[in-house]
Amino acid sequence: MECFMCKGELEVKKVNYIVDLDNTVIVIKDVPAKVCKKCGEKFYDNETAANIEKMVNQLKELAVEVTVVKYNEKIA
Ligand SMILES: [Zn+2]
Repeated sequence: MECFMCKGELEVKKVNYIVDLDNTVIVIKDVPAKVCKKCGEKFYDNETAANIEKMVNQLKELAVEVTVVKYNEKIA
């Protein structure tokens, strides 16, 4: 698999996913992603992206300034 942006080589890594919303910043740690060795672009598979979305939707209800959580692939 290669980078859609620059055709660089992708490597599987755990990354921090940061969501900057109006009233809160959510940091999800250790998210599995494919990261381009050349340009640093990050790609997430569909399942991971769906999990991230669920986590963000739950966490943004907390209404705290900054939330830092670990990625959990078993989220309901
Ligand atoms: Zn790239």
